Amino acid sequence: MHESVCRPLADTGPVPTAGPTADPPRQGTVADLADLLAAYPGTLVLSGAGLSTESGIPDYRGPDGKRRVQPMEHGEFVGSSAARQRYWARSFIGWGRFAAARPNAGHRAVTALQASGALGGIITQNVDGLHQLAGARRVIDLHGTLARVLCLTCGTLIGRDYLQVTMARANPGFAALATGAAADGSQVSSQIRPDGDVVIDEGLVARFVAPLCPRCGSDAVKPDVVFFGGSVPRERVERCIARTDAAPALLVLGSSLQVMSGLRFVRQANARGIPIVIVTRGPTRGDSLAMLRLDAPLGATLTEVARRLAPARSVRPEPSVE
Ligand SMILES: [Zn+2]
Repeated sequence: MHESVCRPLADTGPVPTAGPTADPPRQGTVADLADLLAAYPGTLVLSGAGLSTESGIPDYRGPDGKRRVQPMEHGEFVGSSAARQRYWARSFIGWGRFAAARPNAGHRAVTALQASGALGGIITQNVDGLHQLAGARRVIDLHGTLARVLCLTCGTLIGRDYLQVTMARANPGFAALATGAAADGSQVSSQIRPDGDVVIDEGLVARFVAPLCPRCGSDAVKPDVVFFGGSVPRERVERCIARTDAAPALLVLGSSLQVMSGLRFVRQANARGIPIVIVTRGPTRGDSLAMLRLDAPLGATLTEVARRLAPARSVRPEPSVE
């Protein structure tokens, strides 16, 4: 049994908004947010792509909520060897940069606030593993993780790093060719996409030897993430429902709530009558349900909240890599 992920509703029109009679959510301050978290310890977090943009991983949508990047479609990926070849060629080139992304101030503040008890569990729509890298606990990867690859034929789970090695072996010289071609104009390194891949020349894609399952040899290997139009495993959805049922309040971080898989928990929280706070750039589909709304940069905002609520575990500065 799978839970369907509804397609974003805003692709062909404006973001749905509350009717003219609905009160707009109160525009809050950092102090309001800190006060609310102090009053509702163990608040559940629902995080989205906006939390990871400061780590260099782009969002599918800009602050205006409009789609900027065409994401991989589930049906296309599972139904077409050519689509998988294109995905894996791009992912092979983009992986190094994606895997090198590090948690930002927002992730570190969430970890500090969780350690202090202000925040409880985390449901994330992100597939980058940055909450866990920042030391957060009780994280549910709602849409899966790019760190694992699933064989759709036999069910074997494969480490993404391992697959990278096998792809490098099967495609000697491909990386140099792709990045060399990019140097002629397309600038691969600046075009990493939210799925961890990059745009490369279609002629090069055709020469890429796509990876096979090391157990059964099938080419139907898919990153263990929920692509658009795909579905979240029912068991995972139910764990998230249980967390929302037990939460004293819900804090949405960096999500425009365009997909039902995330919005449903906001609706569930609203049905329970618990406070909902949304800290996200731009409008969200949950705005009419929020008691408090902050349209503010996540790293700076969360760092200040952590400074107020978790001073003993103040957010550590980013370790220097130089
Ligand atoms: Zn297999």
